[in-house]
Amino acid sequence: MERIIDGHTRMYCLIGSPVGHSGSPAMYNYSFERLGINSAYLAYDVPLEKTGEAVAALRLFNAGGFNVTMPCKTEVTKYLDRLSPACELIGASNCVVCESDGTLTGHNTDGLGFVANLRVHGVDVKGAKMVVLGAGGAATAVTMQSALDGASEIRIFNRKGYTFYPNAELTVKKLAERVPGCKASVTDLFDTEALAEAVKDCDILVNATKVGMAPLDGETLIDKSLFRRDLVVCDTVYNPKETRMIVEAKAAGVRAAIGGIGMLLRQGVEGFRLFTGAEMPADEVMEKFFA
Ligand code: NAD
Repeated sequence: MERIIDGHTRMYCLIGSPVGHSGSPAMYNYSFERLGINSAYLAYDVPLEKTGEAVAALRLFNAGGFNVTMPCKTEVTKYLDRLSPACELIGASNCVVCESDGTLTGHNTDGLGFVANLRVHGVDVKGAKMVVLGAGGAATAVTMQSALDGASEIRIFNRKGYTFYPNAELTVKKLAERVPGCKASVTDLFDTEALAEAVKDCDILVNATKVGMAPLDGETLIDKSLFRRDLVVCDTVYNPKETRMIVEAKAAGVRAAIGGIGMLLRQGVEGFRLFTGAEMPADEVMEKFFA
């Protein structure tokens, strides 16, 4: 179907800085065209201090919704009318839906995408014991969404004395108050003995640090001797598509070794559904843009 922008075309976009490298415009525009939805998706470079102005402009122009990337993900929550439970717990939004009554609702699709991608691989977080490496944006989204979706225990490991450790402490505190069914704790990543014990005792191991992506490509935080047949190993890193941790986990024959590219795709699928109520043609998008 030929795509024509007309007076009824609904506008969606990405805000943040930089945005030029983002795959979102291609992924969304392809899906709009494919499904015959009269909408267009653009990317606007917005610095942190202009976040509020950008949100006001999108409200004025009656955008259908917008995605938010760094550095605006936390700042944007100040300007929204409502936050989803996960978004509120995470304290950051990467997907804002402009409702028909004009209200703006913040969601966080990183965690939703992570859980959905696991489901595609036949893995459910419900009742699972998890180890999450990291306490930054991706780690917090993964941890909070997994807790909300029924993980029984989440042990976070992060380098003590570094920027993100207090984040992990805050996550543990929030989970104790708000999702008490999920037992959460944080331990120093440098405590290799505690890490090994935790990995031995968990069902799902997630690397949500930057280890594995350039310039830390070729590095891993997990000794391959810890991999076993009933362990699920996941990475949030998607460039390279298979990190050393994923390659070693596959070679060891773990239950599932899941790279970050599927999470990236699935967060787009979740966002598309929130924006339009329609299903993104995920397999086609994966093949066309992420293969
Ligand atoms: P962030 O800067 O918010 O957090 C970085 C985390 O990595 C922190 O916990 C930090 O302590 C840890 N870290 C950094 N260097 C380390 C080192 N040398 N040793 C141990 N820990 C180290 O970053 P983020 O946005 O959370 O991104 C983390 C990774 O997740 C990146 O590779 C990013 O591309 C990826 N990511 C993937 C998706 C997806 O959809 N697949 C979504 C978001 C982020």
